[in-house]
Amino acid sequence: MSRKRVLITGAAGFLGSHLCDRFIKEDFHVIAMDNLITGDLRNIEHLFQLENFEFHNHDVSKFVHVSGELDYILHFASPASPIDYLKIPIQTLKVGSLGIHNLLGLARVKKARILIASTSEVYGDPTVNPQPEEYWGNVNPVGPRGVYDEAKRFQEAMTMAYHTFHGLETRIVRIFNTYGPRMRLNDGRVLPAFIGQALRGEDLTVFGDGSQTRSFCYVDDLVEGIYRLLFSDYTQPVNIGNPDEITIKEFGEEIIKLTGTKQKLVFKPLPTDDPKQRRPDISKAKAILGWEPKVGRAEGLKITYEYFKSLPEKEIQHKDFSYYNKK
Ligand code: UDP
Repeated sequence: MSRKRVLITGAAGFLGSHLCDRFIKEDFHVIAMDNLITGDLRNIEHLFQLENFEFHNHDVSKFVHVSGELDYILHFASPASPIDYLKIPIQTLKVGSLGIHNLLGLARVKKARILIASTSEVYGDPTVNPQPEEYWGNVNPVGPRGVYDEAKRFQEAMTMAYHTFHGLETRIVRIFNTYGPRMRLNDGRVLPAFIGQALRGEDLTVFGDGSQTRSFCYVDDLVEGIYRLLFSDYTQPVNIGNPDEITIKEFGEEIIKLTGTKQKLVFKPLPTDDPKQRRPDISKAKAILGWEPKVGRAEGLKITYEYFKSLPEKEIQHKDFSYYNKK
């Protein structure tokens, strides 16, 4: 039997590259696509020698052509950290709107099932905690996060419309904070920021008073949840994340312990519209997919720390937090 064929957009990014690994492991033919604005070919270079892997350097905001059959599409192309979408707001909006339109069109032509990466950011700065899928959110459309939040909300609406109007097979995953190897050390996210600072012997910068919460999911757990969702028959959005909630201050203290750094926490102004709390309600994922996270923070952080430590010294020393420093 010939291999099933899957197109993965954002394939050279953090999540995209782990998805490529998973689908290769499951013996799919993987068509990887990325325009490398925030992605890095090093994340997938180990796959280039495989006959069931191909890479296309392409911006999915422009017409997407894939020759041959396609069974599945996973749309993971998007800047995905606050610092990225502040630097490239227009691309962020385009990939979530023009990009998804192109991919839904492609899915229709190819009669492929499409799964889109949505986000806990559709809930904005939530007024209910934990967030169930039924919560409609509290989003500021014109704030700094608006370009990402609204693109992702539009993406969900567009995907649903193709599902109901064209009968397209669609799946929507709402991804909560996820971490693991291949995150970018300088993407501004709290985990690489703290670990990078510890490795450089700098103090760890906590924004605000650190009482805001997040819930961190290890990447392997996330990939398992996405894999199960794709092959389920559930078409409404599903939260995938780890409900183990922690304040950013406590998280900083955990990183200090993990890395053994002599540095301390220092407090900086809280960026505009920074959500005060975030924790997924994963009852749906449990009931529908039989999924729940397996990797605890202690274990996941250890693996991730080892990864960051193994990066070339030049890379560890290179930092670009210009946006936050200007504030
Ligand atoms: N944060 C922090 N120090 C940093 C980077 C981020 O205290 O150096 C905070 C940020 O303000 C937010 C939380 O950590 O409250 C998570 O930020 P991240 O950018 O990782 O993702 P978010 O969940 O906000 O999209």
